[in-house]
Amino acid sequence: MALDFALGLPDDVAALQGVARDFALARLRERGQEADRSGDVPWDVLAEAGELGLCAPGVDEAYGGPGVSVQAQVAMMEELGWGNLGLAMAIASQGLLASAIARHGTEEQKRLYLPTLAGEGGLLLASLAVTEPEAGAELEMAAQGEQQRVRTEARRTDGGYSLEGRKRFIVNAGREGLLLVLAQTDPDAGLRGASLFLVRQGVAGVQFLGRTETSGLKSLQIGTLDFQACAVGEGMRLGQEGEGFQIAREVLQLGRVLTAAAEVGTARAAYEAAVAYARERRTMGRPIIEHQQVAGMLARMRTGIDAARLLVLRAAGDLDAGRDATLSSAEANFQSGEAAVSTLRNAVQTFGGYGFTQDFPVEMWLRDVLGSRIAYGGGDVQLMEVAEAIGRGA
Ligand SMILES: Cc1cc2nc3c(=O)[nH]c(=O)nc-3n(C[C@H](O)[C@H](O)[C@H](O)COP(=O)(O)OP(=O)(O)OC[C@H]3O[C@@H](n4cnc5c(N)ncnc54)[C@H](O)[C@@H]3O)c2cc1C
Repeated sequence: MALDFALGLPDDVAALQGVARDFALARLRERGQEADRSGDVPWDVLAEAGELGLCAPGVDEAYGGPGVSVQAQVAMMEELGWGNLGLAMAIASQGLLASAIARHGTEEQKRLYLPTLAGEGGLLLASLAVTEPEAGAELEMAAQGEQQRVRTEARRTDGGYSLEGRKRFIVNAGREGLLLVLAQTDPDAGLRGASLFLVRQGVAGVQFLGRTETSGLKSLQIGTLDFQACAVGEGMRLGQEGEGFQIAREVLQLGRVLTAAAEVGTARAAYEAAVAYARERRTMGRPIIEHQQVAGMLARMRTGIDAARLLVLRAAGDLDAGRDATLSSAEANFQSGEAAVSTLRNAVQTFGGYGFTQDFPVEMWLRDVLGSRIAYGGGDVQLMEVAEAIGRGA
């Protein structure tokens, strides 16, 4: 039940999807499950993804990437999510920073970072650093009041800025990668006074405070970063002062769509496993797939996944066409999260007691989708975005 090409998708979709599918099958499935047991992040697999051109494939040819459409990227993400959700999310983080730099960066920033974010000459890991200990969801929703503000500050110095603050739940934290940090440049202007900065993790003034232990997504490292007197040159501000929140919102929209696609992939993996198990497992003299309740669960899974995928493709189409994707990305992310969680609940149920054991990956996938749902705004945040669009007359 993979992507339906009768939908008339661009030519670049099939090629990237094929590479991602082979990689997911050969590497992500096995290494992701190993990571779930050991808790060790398989960084080498991310480097391999870079070599294969799967990190930031939206980067333009002029900067070393293949420059594929967002629809191709979501087809890729579905396959990666089928392989392992945590690794798929780490890979998506590359594309988020690359798209922000491609759209808003100076020529120097593009030349400096786009090729290595896409994997050229050794992968430069990328992290979006928005969330703070005291502020998460409120930094992801349309600004509604002066209460919403970034606690991390960027104070003017000679020739640049000094960052002070703390960021939480940051993907790929603790590696010598590139951060895109949201910080307040005008403390009195709420989110209109926030700006974005490109900062290398290894520089003085950035301290890794440790990995956050999570119940799922063990193949993904998320952690806390502290900024103290961290000097950033003027040339490493992305966009103008005060544009940070708007650019971060664009990045989050793409993040919502790419994560939604990966969740569709994980849900598809669970559906496929559940169908195979239901055909084989027999009770009362026949395969459990012939029991109406079980068949009904499988039908619900499939319908939810297909619906989510169509919304993901629509949102990706909006991004490709340069249309406003606020509403479509929120709808896609909400639906994929709902479909993934309900599919996984039903998949565990289909496996009966075995679904709750570590003999099968369904319990891991359930833990994984509970985490992915929260990144880039949970279901509540997506619904707030949809409600806000309705209020605007959408
Ligand atoms: C796996 C994972 C990866 C992540 N990766 C990153 C990353 O790379 N970079 C990054 O910056 N952050 C990242 N995050 C952080 C994530 O974006 C935040 O956890 C999320 O925005 C919620 O913020 P919070 O945890 O502070 O919850 P809070 O903001 O405290 O919200 C708590 C609950 O209240 C709800 N809520 C809050 N305000 C409202 C409102 N106005 N109306 C309705 N409901 C509301 C929220 O939806 C949530 O359910 C990641 C998180 C996870 C779990």
